[in-house]
Amino acid sequence: MKLICKSCNLEVSKQVSELLDLNLLDRNVGHNYIPEGFYVIDDGITYPVGLKGYILINIKDLTNTNYHSDQSRLNGCCGYDGCDGLNRICLNNHEIGTERSDCWMPHYVAFNPELVQLI
Ligand SMILES: [Zn+2]
Repeated sequence: MKLICKSCNLEVSKQVSELLDLNLLDRNVGHNYIPEGFYVIDDGITYPVGLKGYILINIKDLTNTNYHSDQSRLNGCCGYDGCDGLNRICLNNHEIGTERSDCWMPHYVAFNPELVQLI
C-alpha cells in the first residue's frame, strides 16, 4: 500500500503495510512509534492521536512532502510538536497530515483520512 494526496494523487509515502503485531509499537518519547515500512489506522483508542480513522506512519516513510509554509504550524522544542494543526504538505502544497517529532513524544506522522488515501 501507499498513501496518496487526494487533491493531486501524488504519492506521499513509500510502500507500507499494515502493522498487525502491536507489540512492535514503541511508545517511548523520542523514539519512532511505528516501525519503518508499516502503517496503523487509529481506532480512536489505542494510539496517541485518538482520532478515529487517522493513518499513522514512520516519518522516514514520507516521500514527496514538505513542511507547511505557515510558520505558526511548525512549533516545537527540538522537533515539531504538531499541536498547531497540519504541518505537512505534499509537493503541490496540499495539506495532508501532522508530523509529531518533538522530544517529549513518540515520533510519527498522522494523516487526515479526508486528505489522503491508501491505495
Ligand atoms: Zn497534493
